[in-house]
Amino acid sequence: MHKLRATLILICVIAALTLCLHADDSRSARSVFYSFFTDEKVIALTFDDGPHKYRTNEILDILSENDVKATFFVVGVMAEEYPDVIRRTLAEGHEIGNHTYNHSKMKKLSAEKLKYELERTEEVLFEICEYRPKLFRPPEGWCSDSIASAAGELDYDVILWNIDTLDWAHNEVGKICECVSTGIRPGSIILFHDYVSGDSSTVDALKLLIPELKADGYRFVTVSELINMHRGMT
Ligand SMILES: [Zn+2]
Repeated sequence: MHKLRATLILICVIAALTLCLHADDSRSARSVFYSFFTDEKVIALTFDDGPHKYRTNEILDILSENDVKATFFVVGVMAEEYPDVIRRTLAEGHEIGNHTYNHSKMKKLSAEKLKYELERTEEVLFEICEYRPKLFRPPEGWCSDSIASAAGELDYDVILWNIDTLDWAHNEVGKICECVSTGIRPGSIILFHDYVSGDSSTVDALKLLIPELKADGYRFVTVSELINMHRGMT
């Protein structure tokens, strides 16, 4: 009997370790992903807080020139203001995620208010292009269990990151590149911003980083592509 129990415990431990080897998700509800663990050299560039008529378009130009796909976590009020940028983003094969309607701080937000924020942005996106996002990134990366559960109830996976370029803090090009080069590994999710109040070095950093990462053998995919690879759907 003891032997059977010990065997069962061992099987559980092995199963838990196997899951850990493939993704650092699983907080509650659906899934909360920071990154993925894979042997394939795939990474996801993500951009928050847009769309913005100048910067998002500049970033889309660079991505297009390099044939790179990315994921944009948009704010509902910005999408209302710049619907053409949303249409361009989707037309060029990128993914769009939900970053709330008002970029509300998550810390004090009730589950009900969060659902309103998510659904309002869904309505905006649907009106612009009949698009329904599947990914949610909480502003400032704040994700409590109740936030994850509320998002999960609306069928969202919560997407955080393992590399913060600190472009939001006006990091210079060299510093942004350093953040990426020190943290990069297969399965990484990299946080950039396509809208920052004031100066931003994001565009200039991308011009250097994308060719360097490509030369290093990395392939750029959307976050949903990473999730599908993780779930064995591709
Ligand atoms: Zn944000």
